[in-house]
Amino acid sequence: MQFIETRGNDNIREKEVTFSKAILNPMASFGGLYVPKELPDLIEFYKENLDSEYKELAFNLLKEFDIDIEYNVLKEAIDLYDNFDNGVACPIVKVKDDLFINELYHGPTRAFKDMALQPFGYVLSSLAQKLNENYLILAATSGDTGPATLETFKNRANIKVACLYPDGGTSDVQRLQMVSEDGKNLKVVGIVGNFDDTQNALKSLLSSDEFKDELKKDNVKLSASNSVNFGRIIFQIIYHIHAYLELVRKSEIKYGDEIYIIVPSGNFGNALGAYYAKKMGLPVKKILITSNENNILTDLITKGEYDLNSKTLIKTSSPAMDILKSSNVERILFDKFGSERTKELMNDLNSNNSYKLSDNELNSLREDFDATFSDDEYGKNTIKYYLDKYDYMMDPHTATCIKAYEKLKEDNLKCVVCSTAEWTKFSPVVMNALKGDNEKHRDVEALEYIQKEFSVKIPNMVKGLFHKKIIHKTIIEKEKIKDEIISFIK
Ligand SMILES: *Cc1c(COP(=O)(O)O)cnc(C)c1O
Repeated sequence: MQFIETRGNDNIREKEVTFSKAILNPMASFGGLYVPKELPDLIEFYKENLDSEYKELAFNLLKEFDIDIEYNVLKEAIDLYDNFDNGVACPIVKVKDDLFINELYHGPTRAFKDMALQPFGYVLSSLAQKLNENYLILAATSGDTGPATLETFKNRANIKVACLYPDGGTSDVQRLQMVSEDGKNLKVVGIVGNFDDTQNALKSLLSSDEFKDELKKDNVKLSASNSVNFGRIIFQIIYHIHAYLELVRKSEIKYGDEIYIIVPSGNFGNALGAYYAKKMGLPVKKILITSNENNILTDLITKGEYDLNSKTLIKTSSPAMDILKSSNVERILFDKFGSERTKELMNDLNSNNSYKLSDNELNSLREDFDATFSDDEYGKNTIKYYLDKYDYMMDPHTATCIKAYEKLKEDNLKCVVCSTAEWTKFSPVVMNALKGDNEKHRDVEALEYIQKEFSVKIPNMVKGLFHKKIIHKTIIEKEKIKDEIISFIK
Protein backbone atom coordinates (compact mmCIF):
# COMPACT_ATOMS: atom_id res chain seq x y z
CA MET A 1 0.00 0.00 0.00
CA GLN A 2 1.32 3.40 -0.99
CA PHE A 3 0.23 6.73 0.47
CA ILE A 4 -0.73 10.01 -1.18
CA GLU A 5 -1.66 13.43 0.16
CA THR A 6 -5.07 14.96 0.91
CA ARG A 7 -4.16 18.42 -0.44
CA GLY A 8 -2.16 17.26 -3.45
CA ASN A 9 1.61 17.30 -3.90
CA ASP A 10 3.90 20.33 -3.74
CA ASN A 11 6.52 18.88 -6.14
CA ILE A 12 9.04 18.96 -3.31
CA ARG A 13 7.95 15.90 -1.42
CA GLU A 14 7.67 12.48 -3.04
CA LYS A 15 4.41 11.98 -4.96
CA GLU A 16 3.67 8.81 -3.05
CA VAL A 17 5.32 7.27 -0.02
CA THR A 18 5.47 3.95 1.81
CA PHE A 19 3.64 3.30 5.06
CA SER A 20 6.81 3.69 7.09
CA LYS A 21 7.55 7.09 5.56
CA ALA A 22 3.98 8.23 6.13
CA ILE A 23 4.11 7.37 9.82
CA LEU A 24 7.63 8.64 10.47
CA ASN A 25 6.85 12.00 8.87
CA PRO A 26 3.07 12.42 8.96
CA MET A 27 2.84 16.01 7.73
CA ALA A 28 2.15 16.08 3.99
CA SER A 29 2.27 18.85 1.35
CA PHE A 30 0.34 22.08 2.06
CA GLY A 31 -0.41 20.93 5.61
CA GLY A 32 -2.34 17.91 4.35
CA LEU A 33 -2.41 14.33 5.60
CA TYR A 34 -1.37 10.98 4.18
CA VAL A 35 -4.07 8.60 2.96
CA PRO A 36 -3.94 5.20 1.25
CA LYS A 37 -3.66 5.50 -2.52
CA GLU A 38 -6.20 2.73 -2.82
CA LEU A 39 -8.02 0.41 -0.47
CA PRO A 40 -8.39 -3.32 -1.08
CA ASP A 41 -11.81 -4.88 -1.54
CA LEU A 42 -12.28 -7.06 1.51
CA ILE A 43 -15.65 -8.71 0.96
CA GLU A 44 -14.06 -12.16 0.57
CA PHE A 45 -11.58 -11.42 3.34
CA TYR A 46 -14.39 -10.72 5.80
CA LYS A 47 -16.02 -14.04 5.01
CA GLU A 48 -12.75 -15.93 5.28
CA ASN A 49 -12.09 -14.41 8.68
CA LEU A 50 -15.41 -15.26 10.26
CA ASP A 51 -13.59 -17.49 12.73
CA SER A 52 -10.50 -15.35 13.33
CA GLU A 53 -10.04 -14.11 16.87
CA TYR A 54 -8.82 -10.54 17.34
CA LYS A 55 -5.09 -10.96 16.94
CA GLU A 56 -5.43 -13.26 13.97
CA LEU A 57 -7.85 -10.86 12.30
CA ALA A 58 -5.49 -7.95 12.94
CA PHE A 59 -2.52 -9.76 11.46
CA ASN A 60 -4.44 -10.97 8.41
CA LEU A 61 -5.81 -7.49 7.77
CA LEU A 62 -2.40 -5.86 7.99
CA LYS A 63 -1.14 -8.44 5.51
CA GLU A 64 -3.93 -7.44 3.09
CA PHE A 65 -2.78 -3.83 3.35
CA ASP A 66 0.67 -4.88 2.23
CA ILE A 67 2.61 -2.31 4.23
CA ASP A 68 6.40 -2.18 4.45
CA ILE A 69 6.68 -3.51 8.00
CA GLU A 70 8.21 -6.93 8.65
CA TYR A 71 5.75 -9.62 9.68
CA ASN A 72 7.59 -10.40 12.90
CA VAL A 73 7.35 -6.74 13.97
CA LEU A 74 3.63 -6.72 13.20
CA LYS A 75 3.18 -9.96 15.16
CA GLU A 76 5.02 -8.60 18.20
CA ALA A 77 3.05 -5.35 18.02
CA ILE A 78 -0.24 -7.22 17.94
CA ASP A 79 0.86 -9.47 20.80
CA LEU A 80 0.61 -6.42 23.05
CA TYR A 81 -3.15 -7.05 23.11
CA ASP A 82 -2.28 -9.99 25.40
CA ASN A 83 -1.78 -7.38 28.15
CA PHE A 84 -5.36 -6.16 27.92
CA ASP A 85 -7.84 -7.40 30.57
CA ASN A 86 -7.95 -11.22 30.44
CA GLY A 87 -6.07 -11.08 27.12
CA VAL A 88 -9.22 -9.91 25.33
CA ALA A 89 -8.66 -6.81 23.20
CA CYS A 90 -12.27 -5.61 23.07
CA PRO A 91 -15.28 -7.57 24.35
CA ILE A 92 -18.66 -6.98 22.71
CA VAL A 93 -21.36 -6.72 25.37
CA LYS A 94 -25.05 -7.13 24.64
CA VAL A 95 -27.14 -4.55 26.46
CA LYS A 96 -30.44 -5.18 24.70
CA ASP A 97 -31.67 -6.99 21.61
CA ASP A 98 -30.46 -4.38 19.16
CA LEU A 99 -27.79 -2.64 21.22
CA PHE A 100 -24.22 -3.89 21.62
CA ILE A 101 -21.26 -2.16 23.19
CA ASN A 102 -17.80 -2.53 21.69
CA GLU A 103 -15.71 -2.01 24.84
CA LEU A 104 -12.53 -0.52 23.48
CA TYR A 105 -11.06 0.49 26.85
CA HIS A 106 -9.53 -2.67 28.30
CA GLY A 107 -5.94 -1.59 27.63
CA PRO A 108 -3.39 -0.22 30.14
CA THR A 109 -4.69 3.39 30.22
CA ARG A 110 -8.44 2.57 30.23
CA ALA A 111 -9.41 4.41 27.04
CA PHE A 112 -9.70 3.31 23.42
CA LYS A 113 -6.49 5.10 22.45
CA ASP A 114 -4.59 2.00 23.60
CA MET A 115 -6.22 -0.06 20.83
CA ALA A 116 -4.08 1.77 18.28
CA LEU A 117 -1.26 3.31 20.27
CA GLN A 118 -0.06 0.09 21.87
CA PRO A 119 0.84 -1.58 18.55
CA PHE A 120 1.66 1.73 16.83
CA GLY A 121 4.29 2.60 19.45
CA TYR A 122 5.96 -0.74 18.98
CA VAL A 123 6.02 -0.44 15.18
CA LEU A 124 7.36 3.10 15.23
CA SER A 125 10.12 2.35 17.71
CA SER A 126 11.15 -0.75 15.73
CA LEU A 127 11.37 1.34 12.57
CA ALA A 128 13.48 4.00 14.29
CA GLN A 129 15.87 1.34 15.59
CA LYS A 130 16.15 -0.31 12.20
CA LEU A 131 16.95 3.02 10.53
CA ASN A 132 19.24 3.93 13.42
CA GLU A 133 17.43 7.27 13.76
CA ASN A 134 16.14 9.15 16.78
CA TYR A 135 12.61 10.53 16.87
CA LEU A 136 10.82 13.06 18.96
CA ILE A 137 7.14 12.21 19.16
CA LEU A 138 4.91 15.19 19.76
CA ALA A 139 1.51 14.47 21.23
CA ALA A 140 -1.25 16.94 21.98
CA THR A 141 -3.95 15.43 24.13
CA SER A 142 -7.44 16.22 25.31
CA GLY A 143 -6.81 13.61 27.99
CA ASP A 144 -6.52 10.08 26.62
CA THR A 145 -3.97 10.22 23.80
CA GLY A 146 -1.37 11.56 26.26
CA PRO A 147 -1.40 8.69 28.75
CA ALA A 148 -1.63 6.10 25.96
CA THR A 149 1.30 7.67 24.08
CA LEU A 150 3.48 7.84 27.18
CA GLU A 151 2.60 4.28 28.11
CA THR A 152 3.46 2.85 24.71
CA PHE A 153 6.76 4.73 24.23
CA LYS A 154 8.01 4.65 27.82
CA ASN A 155 11.66 3.49 27.79
CA ARG A 156 11.49 2.44 24.13
CA ALA A 157 14.73 2.81 22.20
CA ASN A 158 15.34 5.72 19.77
CA ILE A 159 12.20 7.59 20.85
CA LYS A 160 11.55 10.64 23.00
CA VAL A 161 8.07 11.92 23.74
CA ALA A 162 6.88 15.44 24.49
CA CYS A 163 3.27 15.40 25.54
CA LEU A 164 1.17 18.57 25.75
CA TYR A 165 -2.13 18.69 27.63
CA PRO A 166 -4.52 21.58 28.31
CA ASP A 167 -4.10 22.43 32.00
CA GLY A 168 -7.48 22.03 33.71
CA GLY A 169 -8.99 20.41 30.60
CA THR A 170 -8.58 16.80 31.72
CA SER A 171 -9.89 14.64 34.56
CA ASP A 172 -7.70 14.00 37.64
CA VAL A 173 -7.13 10.43 36.57
CA GLN A 174 -6.05 11.48 33.10
CA ARG A 175 -3.71 14.16 34.45
CA LEU A 176 -2.20 11.85 37.06
CA GLN A 177 -1.64 9.17 34.44
CA MET A 178 0.54 11.66 32.58
CA VAL A 179 2.33 13.61 35.29
CA SER A 180 3.30 10.50 37.25
CA GLU A 181 4.62 8.57 34.26
CA ASP A 182 8.33 7.99 34.71
CA GLY A 183 10.63 7.13 31.88
CA LYS A 184 13.81 8.99 30.98
CA ASN A 185 12.55 9.60 27.46
CA LEU A 186 9.30 11.35 28.48
CA LYS A 187 8.40 15.01 28.94
CA VAL A 188 4.90 16.13 29.96
CA VAL A 189 3.86 19.79 29.84
CA GLY A 190 0.60 21.46 30.80
CA ILE A 191 -0.47 24.30 28.49
CA VAL A 192 -2.51 27.32 29.53
CA GLY A 193 -5.51 27.09 27.19
CA ASN A 194 -7.91 24.50 25.78
CA PHE A 195 -7.32 21.46 23.56
CA ASP A 196 -7.66 23.34 20.27
CA ASP A 197 -4.96 25.78 21.47
CA THR A 198 -2.78 22.83 22.40
CA GLN A 199 -3.36 21.02 19.11
CA ASN A 200 -2.72 24.23 17.12
CA ALA A 201 0.56 24.72 18.94
CA LEU A 202 1.52 21.16 18.07
CA LYS A 203 0.57 21.51 14.42
CA SER A 204 2.59 24.68 13.99
CA LEU A 205 5.63 23.00 15.55
CA LEU A 206 5.22 19.98 13.30
CA SER A 207 5.29 22.15 10.21
CA SER A 208 7.98 24.57 11.43
CA ASP A 209 11.25 24.23 9.52
CA GLU A 210 13.04 26.29 12.12
CA PHE A 211 12.02 23.83 14.82
CA LYS A 212 13.05 20.87 12.69
CA ASP A 213 16.44 22.46 12.04
CA GLU A 214 16.96 22.94 15.77
CA LEU A 215 16.21 19.27 16.33
CA LYS A 216 18.46 18.24 13.48
CA LYS A 217 21.43 19.75 15.30
CA ASP A 218 20.86 17.08 17.93
CA ASN A 219 20.23 14.41 15.33
CA VAL A 220 16.54 14.13 16.16
CA LYS A 221 13.64 13.86 13.70
CA LEU A 222 10.07 14.77 14.37
CA SER A 223 6.92 12.66 14.30
CA ALA A 224 3.46 12.69 15.91
CA SER A 225 1.23 10.23 17.68
CA ASN A 226 -2.07 12.02 17.14
CA SER A 227 -4.53 10.50 14.73
CA VAL A 228 -3.09 12.72 12.01
CA ASN A 229 -0.68 9.79 11.91
CA PHE A 230 -2.02 7.03 9.67
CA GLY A 231 -0.14 4.51 11.77
CA ARG A 232 -2.93 4.90 14.30
CA ILE A 233 -5.79 4.81 11.83
CA ILE A 234 -4.70 1.47 10.42
CA PHE A 235 -5.20 -0.17 13.83
CA GLN A 236 -8.56 1.57 14.25
CA ILE A 237 -10.13 -0.23 11.31
CA ILE A 238 -9.73 -3.67 12.86
CA TYR A 239 -12.06 -3.43 15.86
CA HIS A 240 -15.02 -2.32 13.76
CA ILE A 241 -14.61 -5.42 11.60
CA HIS A 242 -14.11 -7.55 14.69
CA ALA A 243 -17.37 -6.27 16.20
CA TYR A 244 -19.30 -7.17 13.06
CA LEU A 245 -17.80 -10.66 12.90
CA GLU A 246 -18.56 -11.18 16.60
CA LEU A 247 -22.24 -10.46 15.97
CA VAL A 248 -22.21 -13.05 13.19
CA ARG A 249 -20.45 -15.59 15.41
CA LYS A 250 -22.98 -15.03 18.18
CA SER A 251 -25.82 -15.51 15.65
CA GLU A 252 -27.09 -12.02 16.33
CA ILE A 253 -26.92 -11.29 12.60
CA LYS A 254 -26.31 -13.27 9.42
CA TYR A 255 -23.27 -12.38 7.35
CA GLY A 256 -24.42 -9.64 4.99
CA ASP A 257 -26.96 -8.06 7.33
CA GLU A 258 -26.29 -4.38 7.82
CA ILE A 259 -25.57 -2.81 11.20
CA TYR A 260 -25.17 0.70 12.53
CA ILE A 261 -21.88 1.72 14.11
CA ILE A 262 -22.16 4.56 16.61
CA VAL A 263 -19.02 6.56 17.33
CA PRO A 264 -18.51 9.31 19.94
CA SER A 265 -16.24 11.59 17.96
CA GLY A 266 -13.64 14.31 18.39
CA ASN A 267 -10.75 14.18 15.98
CA PHE A 268 -12.71 11.64 13.89
CA GLY A 269 -10.04 8.92 13.85
CA ASN A 270 -12.34 6.27 15.28
CA ALA A 271 -15.10 7.16 12.80
CA LEU A 272 -12.60 7.20 9.94
CA GLY A 273 -11.61 3.63 10.79
CA ALA A 274 -15.29 2.62 10.54
CA TYR A 275 -15.61 4.48 7.23
CA TYR A 276 -12.67 2.60 5.72
CA ALA A 277 -14.08 -0.73 6.95
CA LYS A 278 -17.42 0.12 5.30
CA LYS A 279 -15.75 1.27 2.12
CA MET A 280 -13.86 -2.00 1.89
CA GLY A 281 -17.18 -3.84 1.99
CA LEU A 282 -18.22 -4.32 5.63
CA PRO A 283 -22.04 -4.34 5.70
CA VAL A 284 -22.64 -1.11 7.60
CA LYS A 285 -25.83 0.85 6.98
CA LYS A 286 -24.46 4.07 8.41
CA ILE A 287 -21.90 5.37 10.83
CA LEU A 288 -23.67 7.53 13.39
CA ILE A 289 -21.49 10.28 14.80
CA THR A 290 -22.18 11.71 18.25
CA SER A 291 -20.79 14.78 19.96
CA ASN A 292 -21.35 16.80 23.08
CA GLU A 293 -22.38 20.47 22.89
CA ASN A 294 -19.29 21.16 20.81
CA ASN A 295 -21.41 19.94 17.94
CA ILE A 296 -19.55 21.13 14.87
CA LEU A 297 -19.55 17.60 13.42
CA THR A 298 -23.35 17.48 13.68
CA ASP A 299 -23.54 20.71 11.69
CA LEU A 300 -21.21 19.33 9.06
CA ILE A 301 -23.04 16.06 8.61
CA THR A 302 -26.58 17.41 8.81
CA LYS A 303 -26.15 20.82 7.13
CA GLY A 304 -22.86 20.66 5.24
CA GLU A 305 -21.46 23.57 7.24
CA TYR A 306 -18.21 23.69 9.13
CA ASP A 307 -18.22 27.07 10.80
CA LEU A 308 -15.77 27.85 13.58
CA ASN A 309 -17.00 31.46 13.72
CA SER A 310 -20.31 30.36 15.14
CA LYS A 311 -18.72 28.27 17.92
CA THR A 312 -16.74 28.75 21.07
CA LEU A 313 -15.27 25.73 22.71
CA ILE A 314 -17.35 24.66 25.71
CA LYS A 315 -15.97 22.62 28.59
CA THR A 316 -18.22 19.58 28.97
CA SER A 317 -18.24 16.43 31.04
CA SER A 318 -17.05 14.46 28.00
CA PRO A 319 -13.78 16.38 27.58
CA ALA A 320 -12.16 14.02 25.06
CA MET A 321 -14.71 15.40 22.59
CA ASP A 322 -14.22 19.07 23.48
CA ILE A 323 -12.76 19.72 20.06
CA LEU A 324 -13.78 22.04 17.24
CA LYS A 325 -11.00 21.46 14.73
CA SER A 326 -11.47 17.82 13.89
CA SER A 327 -8.39 16.69 11.95
CA ASN A 328 -9.53 13.47 10.30
CA VAL A 329 -12.60 14.94 8.60
CA GLU A 330 -10.10 16.01 5.98
CA ARG A 331 -9.43 12.39 5.05
CA ILE A 332 -13.15 11.85 4.41
CA LEU A 333 -13.33 15.01 2.27
CA PHE A 334 -10.39 13.75 0.26
CA ASP A 335 -11.87 10.31 -0.19
CA LYS A 336 -15.15 11.71 -1.45
CA PHE A 337 -14.19 14.89 -3.28
CA GLY A 338 -10.51 14.56 -4.22
CA SER A 339 -7.40 16.57 -3.37
CA GLU A 340 -8.18 19.77 -5.25
CA ARG A 341 -11.50 20.27 -3.54
CA THR A 342 -10.07 19.25 -0.16
CA LYS A 343 -7.31 21.83 -0.51
CA GLU A 344 -9.91 24.44 -1.40
CA LEU A 345 -12.09 23.60 1.61
CA MET A 346 -9.13 23.53 3.99
CA ASN A 347 -7.92 26.88 2.63
CA ASP A 348 -11.41 28.26 3.30
CA LEU A 349 -11.18 26.94 6.83
CA ASN A 350 -7.78 28.55 7.36
CA SER A 351 -8.71 31.93 5.95
CA ASN A 352 -12.42 32.27 6.83
CA ASN A 353 -12.68 29.84 9.74
CA SER A 354 -15.42 28.06 7.84
CA TYR A 355 -16.33 26.08 4.75
CA LYS A 356 -19.55 24.90 3.16
CA LEU A 357 -20.27 21.79 1.14
CA SER A 358 -22.50 21.81 -1.94
CA ASP A 359 -25.82 19.96 -1.77
CA ASN A 360 -24.37 17.08 -3.76
CA GLU A 361 -21.38 16.86 -1.48
CA LEU A 362 -23.60 16.85 1.58
CA ASN A 363 -25.73 14.07 0.12
CA SER A 364 -22.61 12.04 -0.53
CA LEU A 365 -21.48 12.50 3.07
CA ARG A 366 -24.90 11.48 4.34
CA GLU A 367 -24.76 8.20 2.43
CA ASP A 368 -22.26 7.02 5.00
CA PHE A 369 -22.87 9.20 8.03
CA ASP A 370 -25.52 10.76 10.17
CA ALA A 371 -24.91 12.74 13.35
CA THR A 372 -26.40 14.11 16.52
CA PHE A 373 -25.23 15.53 19.84
CA SER A 374 -26.33 15.70 23.45
CA ASP A 375 -25.66 17.86 26.49
CA ASP A 376 -24.26 16.93 29.90
CA GLU A 377 -27.70 16.58 31.45
CA TYR A 378 -28.70 14.01 28.85
CA GLY A 379 -25.43 12.17 29.47
CA LYS A 380 -25.96 11.94 33.22
CA ASN A 381 -29.57 10.78 32.87
CA THR A 382 -28.46 8.14 30.41
CA ILE A 383 -25.68 6.84 32.65
CA LYS A 384 -28.16 6.42 35.52
CA TYR A 385 -30.92 4.94 33.39
CA TYR A 386 -28.69 2.30 31.83
CA LEU A 387 -27.24 1.29 35.16
CA ASP A 388 -30.68 1.05 36.80
CA LYS A 389 -32.47 -0.61 33.94
CA TYR A 390 -29.81 -2.72 32.20
CA ASP A 391 -27.13 -3.00 34.87
CA TYR A 392 -24.65 -1.45 32.45
CA MET A 393 -22.16 1.19 33.56
CA MET A 394 -20.95 3.58 30.88
CA ASP A 395 -18.77 6.68 30.78
CA PRO A 396 -19.99 10.13 29.63
CA HIS A 397 -18.54 9.79 26.10
CA THR A 398 -20.26 6.49 25.53
CA ALA A 399 -23.49 7.98 26.88
CA THR A 400 -23.66 10.43 23.96
CA CYS A 401 -24.06 7.41 21.66
CA ILE A 402 -27.39 6.51 23.19
CA LYS A 403 -28.84 9.68 21.69
CA ALA A 404 -27.99 8.42 18.21
CA TYR A 405 -29.38 5.01 19.05
CA GLU A 406 -32.67 6.61 20.11
CA LYS A 407 -32.91 9.27 17.40
CA LEU A 408 -31.08 8.30 14.24
CA LYS A 409 -31.62 4.60 13.81
CA GLU A 410 -34.11 4.30 10.96
CA ASP A 411 -34.52 0.56 10.62
CA ASN A 412 -34.70 -2.37 12.89
CA LEU A 413 -30.98 -3.05 12.57
CA LYS A 414 -28.52 -3.87 15.33
CA CYS A 415 -26.33 -1.08 16.66
CA VAL A 416 -22.75 -1.34 17.83
CA VAL A 417 -21.74 1.51 20.13
CA CYS A 418 -18.03 2.24 20.44
CA SER A 419 -17.33 2.66 24.13
CA THR A 420 -14.23 4.81 24.22
CA ALA A 421 -13.40 5.00 27.92
CA GLU A 422 -13.92 3.15 31.16
CA TRP A 423 -16.11 5.02 33.66
CA THR A 424 -13.16 5.13 36.11
CA LYS A 425 -11.56 7.88 34.03
CA PHE A 426 -14.54 10.16 34.56
CA SER A 427 -15.85 9.06 37.94
CA PRO A 428 -16.93 12.51 39.29
CA VAL A 429 -19.44 12.87 36.45
CA VAL A 430 -20.63 9.32 36.92
CA MET A 431 -21.09 10.01 40.64
CA ASN A 432 -23.13 13.13 39.81
CA ALA A 433 -25.23 10.99 37.51
CA LEU A 434 -25.85 8.20 40.01
CA LYS A 435 -26.37 10.40 43.06
CA GLY A 436 -28.35 13.02 41.21
CA ASP A 437 -26.25 15.87 42.63
CA ASN A 438 -24.25 18.64 40.97
CA GLU A 439 -21.37 18.85 43.40
CA LYS A 440 -17.79 18.87 42.26
CA HIS A 441 -16.38 15.61 43.61
CA ARG A 442 -12.74 14.63 43.58
CA ASP A 443 -11.88 11.55 41.53
CA VAL A 444 -10.68 9.61 44.62
CA GLU A 445 -13.90 10.26 46.46
CA ALA A 446 -16.08 9.42 43.45
CA LEU A 447 -14.24 6.18 42.71
CA GLU A 448 -14.65 5.05 46.30
CA TYR A 449 -18.33 5.98 46.47
CA ILE A 450 -19.22 4.22 43.22
CA GLN A 451 -17.22 1.13 44.04
CA LYS A 452 -18.98 0.79 47.39
CA GLU A 453 -22.52 1.60 46.32
CA PHE A 454 -22.57 -0.33 43.07
CA SER A 455 -19.96 -3.02 43.75
CA VAL A 456 -18.00 -2.44 40.57
CA LYS A 457 -14.30 -3.08 40.06
CA ILE A 458 -11.61 -0.43 39.79
CA PRO A 459 -8.41 -1.50 38.04
CA ASN A 460 -5.23 -1.38 40.14
CA MET A 461 -3.66 1.07 37.73
CA VAL A 462 -6.33 3.66 38.58
CA LYS A 463 -6.23 3.00 42.33
CA GLY A 464 -2.44 3.27 42.37
CA LEU A 465 -2.38 6.66 40.66
CA PHE A 466 -3.27 8.57 43.79
CA HIS A 467 -0.15 7.36 45.59
CA LYS A 468 2.31 7.83 42.76
CA LYS A 469 4.98 10.50 42.81
CA ILE A 470 4.32 13.53 40.58
CA ILE A 471 7.24 13.80 38.20
CA HIS A 472 6.18 16.38 35.63
CA LYS A 473 5.22 19.73 37.13
CA THR A 474 5.71 22.16 34.23
CA ILE A 475 2.80 24.35 33.15
CA ILE A 476 3.52 27.02 30.55
CA GLU A 477 2.01 29.46 28.04
CA LYS A 478 1.87 28.07 24.52
CA GLU A 479 4.47 30.56 23.24
CA LYS A 480 7.07 28.84 25.44
CA ILE A 481 6.51 25.30 24.19
CA LYS A 482 9.27 25.31 21.61
CA ASP A 483 11.99 26.36 24.03
CA GLU A 484 10.78 23.91 26.63
CA ILE A 485 10.99 21.02 24.19
CA ILE A 486 14.37 22.04 22.80
CA SER A 487 15.83 22.11 26.28
CA PHE A 488 14.38 18.63 26.94
CA ILE A 489 16.11 17.28 23.83
CA LYS A 490 19.51 18.71 24.79
C1 LIG B 1 -10.18 10.34 21.82
C2 LIG B 1 -11.51 10.06 22.41
C3 LIG B 1 -12.69 10.26 21.68
C4 LIG B 1 -12.69 10.84 20.29
O1 LIG B 1 -12.12 9.94 19.36
P1 LIG B 1 -11.69 10.48 17.91
O2 LIG B 1 -11.09 9.30 17.24
O3 LIG B 1 -10.70 11.57 18.14
O4 LIG B 1 -12.92 10.98 17.24
C5 LIG B 1 -13.89 9.92 22.26
N1 LIG B 1 -13.95 9.45 23.52
C6 LIG B 1 -12.83 9.25 24.26
C7 LIG B 1 -12.98 8.76 25.66
C8 LIG B 1 -11.59 9.53 23.72
O5 LIG B 1 -10.48 9.34 24.46
